[in-house]
Amino acid sequence: MPTRRDFILNSAGAMAGIAFVGCDLLAARDAQAQPAKRRREVVVSGRRVKTVDVHAHCAVPEAMALMGLKVEPQTLVMGQERIRAMDEQGIDVEALSINPYWYKAERDLARALIRMQNEKLAELCASQPERFVAFATVALQHPDLAAEQLEEGVRKLGLRGGSIGANVAGEELSDPKFHPFWAKAEQLGCLIFIHPQGGTAGFEQRLRGSGGLANVIGNPLDTTIALSHLIFEGTLDRFPGLKICAAHGGGYLPSYAARSDAGCVTFPDRCPKPLKKRPTEYLRQLYYDSIVFTPEALRHLAAEVGSGQIVMGTDYPFPWMKTAVDHILNTPGLSDAERAAMLGETASRLLGIK
Ligand SMILES: [Zn+2]
Repeated sequence: MPTRRDFILNSAGAMAGIAFVGCDLLAARDAQAQPAKRRREVVVSGRRVKTVDVHAHCAVPEAMALMGLKVEPQTLVMGQERIRAMDEQGIDVEALSINPYWYKAERDLARALIRMQNEKLAELCASQPERFVAFATVALQHPDLAAEQLEEGVRKLGLRGGSIGANVAGEELSDPKFHPFWAKAEQLGCLIFIHPQGGTAGFEQRLRGSGGLANVIGNPLDTTIALSHLIFEGTLDRFPGLKICAAHGGGYLPSYAARSDAGCVTFPDRCPKPLKKRPTEYLRQLYYDSIVFTPEALRHLAAEVGSGQIVMGTDYPFPWMKTAVDHILNTPGLSDAERAAMLGETASRLLGIK
C-alpha cells in the first residue's frame, strides 16, 4: 500500500515542478523529527571546491513501468532525502545515472522508454540546477537509435553525457555493431559513464552463495572485461577522442594492469590486432570513479592512471561509500591541487558544470 511519503517521493520523480512543493512539505515535517544538518562545504587549502559525485543512481518509476518493473529500493526515486544525504556528505552536485534494465526491449518500446526517461531526467535537473546534472540513457541494443538518443539527450535536453552498461545483454561494448554509438559519443565529445551490469558477465553459476559475489566481485570483473575489450579490440584506437568513465575505479584492471602488457609479449600470437600503444597506456586516457575504499587503493589507482583521471563517486543510494569526500581529503601523498581535481574540478570540466 503506498504511503503518503511514497506518493510524495514518486511525485518528485514524476513532476519536477510539483516535486519541490512536496519536498518542502517533507522537509517541514522532518524538521520536527530531527534537527536539520548544516550543508557541508568542502574547502581545500582555503578554497571552496564544488564537489561532484559522478556515480549516483536514480530511477524514473514511470519509465520502469513500461517494462512492468517497480523501483527497488525506493531511495532510487528522487526526493528530499537525497539532498539531505548530499548536504551531510559534502556533495554539491550529483551526476545522475540509471542502470540499464531495458537492453532486451524491442525498438519501439526502447524508443518510448528512453524518451520518457531522458525527459524526466532533464526535468529533475532543471528543477535543481545547482545540485543535479544527468547522463542520458540510451537503448544500446539498437546502436543507431542509441546514437540518436545520445545526441538528442545532450543537444536538446541538456544532459551531460551518456551512461551505459559494461555489456549489452551479454554483448561486448567493443563489438563493431556498437561503432555508430562510439562514433557519436566521440563526435559530441561528451563523457560516457560505464557501469557494470551485474549477473550478465557469464559467471552467474560461480557467483552464487554467501558474500553477494555477483556484486562484490562480479561487478568489478564486468568492468574489467569491458575495458579490456575496448583496449584489445582496438575500439579506443578507432575512436581516440572518446571520454569514458569507468565505475568502481575501473574494476580490477588498474590493480593488475601490467599483466595486460605482459600478455602480448609472452604470447604474441594471442594478440593478432595491432594496437597503437601498450595496453596500459590506454588506462591513462580513461576516467575512473574513486570508489576503491582505502587510501592505499586510491594512491595506487592514481599511480597507474594519473590523478587527473580520477573523479569522485559514492554509488548513492547504495551505502558503499558515504565518506567519499574524506577518502580523497585524507589519502596521503596527494597534493591539494590533485584533491581539488578529484573532488570536483575534473568532473566539472567533463560535465560542463559551472
Ligand atoms: Zn553503482
